[in-house]
Amino acid sequence: MTRQIHHFVNGKAAPGTSGRTGEVFNPSTGEVQALVALATGAELGAAVETAKTAQAAWAAVNPQRRARVMFKFKQLVEDNMDELARLLASEHGKVVADAKGDIQRGLEVVEFACGIPHALKGEYTEGAGPGIDVYSMRQPLGVVAGITPFNFPAMIPMWMFSVAIACGNAFILKPSEKDPSVPVRLAELMMEAGLPAGVLNVVHGDKEAVDAILHHPDIKAVSFVGSSDIAQYVYVTGAQNGKRVQAMGGAKNHGIILPDADMDQVVKDLVGSAYGSAGERCMALPVAVPVGEETAEKLIAKLLPEIERLAPGNSLDPDAIYGPVVSAAHREKVEGYIQMGVDEGAELVVDGRGFSLQGHENGFFIGPSLFDHVTPDMRSYQEEIFGPVLQIVRANDLEEAARLPSEHPYGNGVAIFTRSGLAAREFASKVNVGMVGINVPIPVPVAYHTFGGWKRSAFGDTNQHGMEGVKFFTKIKTVTQRWPSGEVADQAFVIPTMG
Ligand code: NAD
Repeated sequence: MTRQIHHFVNGKAAPGTSGRTGEVFNPSTGEVQALVALATGAELGAAVETAKTAQAAWAAVNPQRRARVMFKFKQLVEDNMDELARLLASEHGKVVADAKGDIQRGLEVVEFACGIPHALKGEYTEGAGPGIDVYSMRQPLGVVAGITPFNFPAMIPMWMFSVAIACGNAFILKPSEKDPSVPVRLAELMMEAGLPAGVLNVVHGDKEAVDAILHHPDIKAVSFVGSSDIAQYVYVTGAQNGKRVQAMGGAKNHGIILPDADMDQVVKDLVGSAYGSAGERCMALPVAVPVGEETAEKLIAKLLPEIERLAPGNSLDPDAIYGPVVSAAHREKVEGYIQMGVDEGAELVVDGRGFSLQGHENGFFIGPSLFDHVTPDMRSYQEEIFGPVLQIVRANDLEEAARLPSEHPYGNGVAIFTRSGLAAREFASKVNVGMVGINVPIPVPVAYHTFGGWKRSAFGDTNQHGMEGVKFFTKIKTVTQRWPSGEVADQAFVIPTMG
């Protein structure tokens, strides 16, 4: 019988009651390996009720004790790393080493959450007026929710729930229905770490569950990561329903290559960041912008032999460099974009379509593809492909190159490769993009900084993790106090001043 993946509510597995399920594939073989329950609004509502009850008690637990749960959880995830990584790889399709990276980057946010007592300390002004002190405190919001994409099924849930829970909230996680097993395992490990039942709940589902979250009056904040159209929908609908919303969207990140860059390093970085994880990373570098014809020719000459060596493999094969894409539908979409590029007049230098892996003929594989002479007016350039496809857009000078990411509708990440500190500094300061790498191809900030793009890559004004995450998952209260000495104030009916 096909394995069933249940919701996880009030500390235990909760079989779905909707009768609706989603198929969970093994992208390397193309086989359905499990069925995941898809929640109704009523099932979501029951999870919120549980969370509400649990949250009141959890918020009363002191921050240091809450942090201890996070310390224990970090240890448990590390102890279970191999099992988690294999489970993740078998549902997502990324290779095991990459799956471990996914988990590790999430754990770094858990480490940040271990320091929550320090992050929650408020501010205090003694003597703001005669005998008057002012202080502020950060309090949890209550029940909050996270809606996550398929491409980082460990890291992105951990970005959200570790900070939210450490701050004293209860959390409803609606993970991607394409690879839902690891989020459930993480919730089980949180329980094992000592989290009270009901503080972290996993409710699987599709649009119906998302809409139920967006309309539920007791969910105070929604953190979303996914594609831009859905991010915008979540942002608008959530805000209309009075919720605090942060909604991260898609991306099309550029790598600008100046003539003085170390080309061997650039090629190594580009291959890893354009083709790694089959290009299914929001911080991938799918666009290379060599500056000057000579740089472009040098780049292509060095890239081609590297691309030839790249072949996708079974995600559980330790020798595979990258795995299949997540679904047959996604493979079709990516291959559609490759055809679009050809139709638009770009030069397809390497065509990865129709790739078949012996013994895995039904897997969702795409070979690496390379386009040259892509131009900014092409739709295949403007839109996110999210596959193992690298597009080269040639630029004559740095000014022309820098305009590309700045004017692109997406603004998640960008990288510049150069030996010139001055050029890099100017570029980093002026580019209209949220996260910048200088000779760093995938500039995902460390956990105690903060993650977030600009333009269509993020809706809402608060980033993920770091102090931005703490701000998102707490509300600030400011207290102005006076302990009268006994004299009656003579101006009781005017606005008090501190004079
Ligand atoms: P997606 O938008 O299809 O799904 C994201 C979530 O939204 C899932 O939980 C899904 O169940 C839900 N959803 C899907 N369709 C919906 C609908 N019509 N109404 C309401 N909810 C819906 O994204 P995906 O394919 O899972 O993930 C890939 C996308 O995520 C890419 O665009 C990638 O760039 C983006 N991403 C962005 C970041 C970032 O931080 N900016 C990080 C990772 C991924």
